[in-house]
Amino acid sequence: MTNAPEATSAPRARLDARVDHRPPITQDVVTIARKLPEGGKINLVGLTRDQLRETLVTAGTPEKQAKMRVGRSGNGSTIGGVRDFALMTNLAKDYRAFLDERFEITLPEIVTRQISEDGTRKYLLRIAGGHEVEAVYIPEESRGTLCISSQVGCTLTCSFCHTGTQKLVRNLTPAEIVGQVMLARDDLGEWPEQGAPKNETRLVSNVVLMGMGEPLYNFENVRDAMQVVMDNEGLTLSRRRITLSTSGVVPEIARTAAEIGCLLAISFHATTDEVRDKLVPINKRWNIETLLEALREYPRVSNSERITFEYVMLKGVNDSDADARRLVKLIQGIPAKINLIPFNEWPGAPYQRSDWERIEAFADIIYKAGYASPIRTPRGEDIMAACGQLKSATDARANQKPRLRRRRGSKPAFPRAI
Ligand code: SAH
Ligand code: SF4
Repeated sequence: MTNAPEATSAPRARLDARVDHRPPITQDVVTIARKLPEGGKINLVGLTRDQLRETLVTAGTPEKQAKMRVGRSGNGSTIGGVRDFALMTNLAKDYRAFLDERFEITLPEIVTRQISEDGTRKYLLRIAGGHEVEAVYIPEESRGTLCISSQVGCTLTCSFCHTGTQKLVRNLTPAEIVGQVMLARDDLGEWPEQGAPKNETRLVSNVVLMGMGEPLYNFENVRDAMQVVMDNEGLTLSRRRITLSTSGVVPEIARTAAEIGCLLAISFHATTDEVRDKLVPINKRWNIETLLEALREYPRVSNSERITFEYVMLKGVNDSDADARRLVKLIQGIPAKINLIPFNEWPGAPYQRSDWERIEAFADIIYKAGYASPIRTPRGEDIMAACGQLKSATDARANQKPRLRRRRGSKPAFPRAI
């Protein structure tokens, strides 16, 4: 595993002559399975159905019984909040003992949980090796969205992103990715009794891969984790309730359509290669035209309706009327929605959020061209939980409260930490 130490310790790129022109860091990073200590138990969380069956058979479950056992013992997600094999009373007693000797159901550990005044919850989680990642729960009237991380840090160095200032430490395993969803359900008390009717209005109704990291640089683990999240005997979320956000790892976009089939969001953010090279440096490897070509195929292959284009609003950088018009022209023919994200500031950030009037004028041009152009309301800013503000809190700066420009009329916010 290699990182980009120079890139992360260098001053943040600004849109001026001091811009960093080095090629983007786009190497593939492979997660090497942790070697279990002799006699160590295997974690069942995050195993797909096939992997679970194979694991049970390898451990000595007779082939014939394995299929039924998979349904009953679950992969740690199917059995609701139960974490102790002894309590799985739908299994024979001796089989419970068999499982207990060999396996465990282990989730990341919650280090802190902060609750914003708007109800947003930010979890700082510790995973194997003492690394930390964050997950954020955003409650809304008709749904609850859990934003999860796929890597500790990120290899990419988008100049407006707080996570991008932290070098990649490692990829998360499927267990650590699925574990974030299970933890949120634990915390929200959302494990229905076995056999209870399916609750239509779930607390965690949507999952977005928009936390720390670039999910398509951890493709296999993200794919396997999402299979568990989507599995009817797993966490039973429909693929249309999962959105994967990528900065534009073009070769993996077709695979995402074919092998995951979830909704796709693209961190687009600029309408010329010149500006996008600086904001999203992976653009130097796969430019706007190449990216759009890959996107045109996505809805057909994944059978999803439309792609979300995320567009962070940076004052004087990418927020002109001409940008809005260019954007509309570029995405012509792609079923799309444009999500405008007011820039979320973080300590030392080299940009400012566009003025509200500017954001509205930009949204208006897009809307009149026939595209939905919602402006994302920043959530959980008071606890640094908003888009692009996540960063391992081991970095002391991550806990500082930024000086934020608030929208007119909004009240000051105070975090509640418990
Ligand atoms: N690596 C992936 C997913 C994580 S970032 C990606 O880049 O898409 C999730 C979203 O937050 C992306 O659209 C990203 O561009 C946006 N984002 C990052 N930093 C931000 C900031 N400071 N303010 C607003 N949005 C930001
Ligand atoms: Fe990584 Fe996404 Fe942040 Fe870019 S925006 S640095 S890809 S997490």
